[in-house]
Amino acid sequence: MVGMNPLEFLEEVQREYMVSTFGEVINYDEMYFDGRLFDFLQQEYNFKYEDRDELIKSLREMRSEHVISRYENPYYYKFFRDIISNIHRIKDTFIDCHGLNMPLFGTVEFDMFYAQIRCPNSDMPPIILFYSGIIQFAHNITNVLTKAFPIQVLDEEKITFGMEPEKIKECINNNKWIEKRFTDIVLSIFFYGNVDMCDVSQPVNDYLYRQFSNALADSFLTFIVAHECAHYYLGHLGKDAIKGIVTVGKVQYENLVPDWEQEFDADYIGALLTIPILIERKIDIQVILGGIYVAMWMLSIIESLRIEGESGKATHPPAKDRLLQIKRKLQKTMQNELHVLEGYDILFSDLWERFSIIAKDVEGRVLAGRPAAEVTYEQIKKVIYDEAEI
Ligand SMILES: [Zn+2]
Repeated sequence: MVGMNPLEFLEEVQREYMVSTFGEVINYDEMYFDGRLFDFLQQEYNFKYEDRDELIKSLREMRSEHVISRYENPYYYKFFRDIISNIHRIKDTFIDCHGLNMPLFGTVEFDMFYAQIRCPNSDMPPIILFYSGIIQFAHNITNVLTKAFPIQVLDEEKITFGMEPEKIKECINNNKWIEKRFTDIVLSIFFYGNVDMCDVSQPVNDYLYRQFSNALADSFLTFIVAHECAHYYLGHLGKDAIKGIVTVGKVQYENLVPDWEQEFDADYIGALLTIPILIERKIDIQVILGGIYVAMWMLSIIESLRIEGESGKATHPPAKDRLLQIKRKLQKTMQNELHVLEGYDILFSDLWERFSIIAKDVEGRVLAGRPAAEVTYEQIKKVIYDEAEI
């Protein structure tokens, strides 16, 4: 690793992930030639068709000038770059970090919901890595959750959704699809670490929820990106930070061992950076707060699964504490808007309760003492969707 610059280091890491995921080094321009990923992003994020060739062309140019990793996925690159450059533009309002460049970032091929800031070593600037599964994951979960908010007013112009805890409870009670799909996602994470095989078919009237769900996913993802950027701008990876060593294939790098106070700070600054960027894009403040909150709740759920599944060693502060902290800190600036979060608290605790019941059933009928590796997704799905109305 001696003599490497950060970009070369990023390329090494991306290469190793690519080889471990696909078994080979792939050419993104060819791999996505059929445009499936672009179509997805176009549909969800309004990427323009005209942008497609333009995007690949500009990425190739940037690659030939050695400013972008040659293993970067062009579509994910655009997605994350747009968010990060917005964050970089407004950061001085919230953080005193003059002279810092935009952070170096990259997407690695791994189908999990995960993002992390990493250091090649103490002499190099940190790099933010996003796992490629993160965008799809955000959409999967918000697609399900938005169904728990009943439609209140519907005309040509505007759709509003009921946010009152009681109405949400009623909605979950009346639509078992929500708890089945939620359980499907959570169990898929538990068994496989990803949501690749989850059923993604939607019930009727899905188009009514699409806008809401996309905005929620957007807020979720912007917050995750902003949290990692906050670590960078706040200088959390300085020489004194406690670091661990991570190995991917033949590459080793330093990894921030999170300090609880730093996590709380990154959450708070991350939220402050997320809100104005999305308000500029005309996303409703309640949806923005909801998206931030959903991201934190999902982290909490993934953490509970991990603690049950493994040794229970916590690297981040318990996500429940993070939820309380962020609520307390935001209280000062936006107390009027925060009541929306009560709805999400009810939603998640209700769904978690229902998940636990179905998960016990899966444990008794499918696992029945066998190692998890022997269980197929089909068997799990059969129990989850047994009496589902889909
Ligand atoms: Zn963090």
